[in-house]
Amino acid sequence: MTWSKRTQAVHGGTRRSQYGEMSEALFLTQGFDYPSAEAAEARFVDAGQDEFIYARYGNPTVAMFEDRLAAIEGAEACFATASGMAAVNGALMSGVAAGDRVVAARALFGSCLFILEDILPRFGVEVVFVDGTDLDQWRAAVTPGTRAVFFETVSNPVLEVIDTAAVAEIAHAAGARVIVDNVFATPVFSDAIEQGADIVVYSATKHVDGQGRCLGGAILGRRDEVRGPVETYMKHTGGAISPFNAWVMLKGLETLDLRVRAQAASARAIAEALEGDARLARVIYPGLASHPQNALFPEGGTVLSIDVAGGKDATFAMLDALEIWKISNNLGDAKSIATHPATTTHQRLPDATKARLGITPGLVRLSVGLEDPADLIADLTAALGRM
Ligand SMILES: *Cc1c(COP(=O)(O)O)cnc(C)c1O
Repeated sequence: MTWSKRTQAVHGGTRRSQYGEMSEALFLTQGFDYPSAEAAEARFVDAGQDEFIYARYGNPTVAMFEDRLAAIEGAEACFATASGMAAVNGALMSGVAAGDRVVAARALFGSCLFILEDILPRFGVEVVFVDGTDLDQWRAAVTPGTRAVFFETVSNPVLEVIDTAAVAEIAHAAGARVIVDNVFATPVFSDAIEQGADIVVYSATKHVDGQGRCLGGAILGRRDEVRGPVETYMKHTGGAISPFNAWVMLKGLETLDLRVRAQAASARAIAEALEGDARLARVIYPGLASHPQNALFPEGGTVLSIDVAGGKDATFAMLDALEIWKISNNLGDAKSIATHPATTTHQRLPDATKARLGITPGLVRLSVGLEDPADLIADLTAALGRM
């Protein structure tokens, strides 16, 4: 019998100890006691599914999280990482060498941009940036021999949706691997592998935890890649997740589907309520028919962005008047969060780049939580009235 994502989210990957515990055990251990010297030797040669060596390589609680997330994503294998950035770094660095070419979409999370723009070129990897929604730019940049393409399937903070299937076709024709950062799509709405992604990366810090407690991440894909070069790179460079954080994430997966669907329904209600408000220059939500890539992500996700007419001062007055929405920079949390990218997450970018990416002084990213959407709308509307 094939289990759906929701059933996998509750039962997938479970390993029970001899006690038959209902709630998955937290194996807070870095090492493992081998029954004999011969057994230790054998395990170092070839460790079985339920044989562990050292927590930097693997741990039973971490393995449960990896197997459960892989089952939800529809991936053959998963390596869990200490953070989303450890996952992005591992996915990229494990697969490139000096002389390689990587093509990436320009609209990226700041730390992803740092890896591509600063780190990879230092080691002789040529990185070319394109406008991710322009397929002609991908076609021109992905020359034969390009090693990998990298993009956020839904970009932060202006929520452009990239056509994964079309970019994958261009990349694969040139022999390049497709690595996607899929945070905004979430494992609930993801079909990245079906669309042609070779490697899917998550920051589990966001929706997987979903309650703002722990850092974590994951690299998913085919077994030969994830348990091959990715695992080799990660286990020797120390990016493994802690068993405690993996346990928090594992339990987070049980409610992921319910949370993300409720948050997405609220995000849609808020976007619909705000669209057309004269105090806003734009309401950006992939789930709205007005979004240019609505057809690529009709589910819309849990995040919307608004562009407040009236510039930075008016926008700050609005943010400071919010009562329920917290001013912070996580996303996917049960608590609704308002972020001002131009002065926080994207502050570092030169003004010209901000303008090019649509990061205006009025842009506010809204990560919708689990509160009553009517309260969230009332709070936003009241705050817009206080500008
Ligand atoms: C948060 C985030 C990351 C980094 O994840 P951390 O867990 O904070 O390291 C990478 N990509 C995207 C799109 C993110 O939102």
